Amino acid sequence: MLPAEVSLKELPLRPELLGQQPYGAPQLDVAVQLNVNENPYPPSSQLAADMAAAVQASARTLNRYPDREAHQLRSKLARYLGHGLLSDQVWAANGSNEVMIQLLQAFGGPGRRVMTFTPTYSMYPEYARDTLTDLVTVPRRPDFTLDLPAAWEAIEALQPDVIIVATPNNPTGTSTPIGVIERLCRASRGIVVVDEAYQEFSRTPDNTCLRLLDHYGNLAVSRTLSKAFAFAGGRVGYVATSRAIVEALRIVRLPYHLSTVTQAVASVALDHAADLLAHVAELRQIRDDSILVLRQLGCDVIDSDANFCLFGQFADRHAVWDGLLRRGVLVRETGPAGYLRVSTGTAHEMQQFFVALTDLLNRQPGILLGRER
Ligand SMILES: *Cc1c(COP(=O)(O)O)cnc(C)c1O
Repeated sequence: MLPAEVSLKELPLRPELLGQQPYGAPQLDVAVQLNVNENPYPPSSQLAADMAAAVQASARTLNRYPDREAHQLRSKLARYLGHGLLSDQVWAANGSNEVMIQLLQAFGGPGRRVMTFTPTYSMYPEYARDTLTDLVTVPRRPDFTLDLPAAWEAIEALQPDVIIVATPNNPTGTSTPIGVIERLCRASRGIVVVDEAYQEFSRTPDNTCLRLLDHYGNLAVSRTLSKAFAFAGGRVGYVATSRAIVEALRIVRLPYHLSTVTQAVASVALDHAADLLAHVAELRQIRDDSILVLRQLGCDVIDSDANFCLFGQFADRHAVWDGLLRRGVLVRETGPAGYLRVSTGTAHEMQQFFVALTDLLNRQPGILLGRER
């Protein structure tokens, strides 16, 4: 027996979870929120009305479980992706986070290895930990591109069961050419998961690993509605892959994992794809303009194919993060030492960010390393 006021330390928690903190950027009530790569444009009134109508219709069936296989949603996702994909090559879950944990539940596990290329998405170590999969990391080159010879050597030596490559990468924004991914697919008998969460924001959006699906049965290309589709709160991610990998994911998924409401509302978002992607084109332009402005301010900025960029280098990045926060702008303290990550907001939000940053740099000129004054 344990007392009602039990503390975590007294519970039979898995030892590797002791002292761990829940994942997540601070959710602060700040005017300009540029910290978690959300799309700054809310749904239009028309889209919101169509979503509300879909919720109303599905509300009448909520006594029943949802379509376990999410047939309609998967066929709409397949149609959106194109490349001749059919619904049985697409799988959806509550965010691509859930898709990726399902991939590791199916192909990772005790005694197995997952390989990633650092610096990269901070959730990958958590998926590994939560599925008891060993994590092995291969460092990227100094310019954050993937080091193919090092990757090859590590694959040969460690024979990972799963390889995860984020392209465009978070937090660097760096793309990996599809020719490089193709080499990984050839070099490995494990599953190669390409996390294309930001692909729609790429300067070359058609340069997608979806093109490789016809050739490699061990490839899984993960996408999400959270970023380009401005649907972060709706929680839908998906993966395009071989039919055999979809079969594996169906074995490990929880029954009825994707609610009727989620499926209905996501379907409506896909019906509005053209409008939503028009905003993506605007955001690409704002990103490119923002990178130029940051460079004019003397910052080192990593070229980005995503809806954010990494900028620095700061003698004390926490002080810069904090100084921006005091001026009403929230960015993310993540990635390589000395850098901060800023998401692409509206032009107005970026203006507020630049005003705050300029003021901060004028007051503390020494904080930006290597700045010519
Ligand atoms: C934002 C992001 C995702 C998307 O996560 P969801 O669970 O779909 O919201 C996936 N991968 C990377 C690298 C991301 O940055």
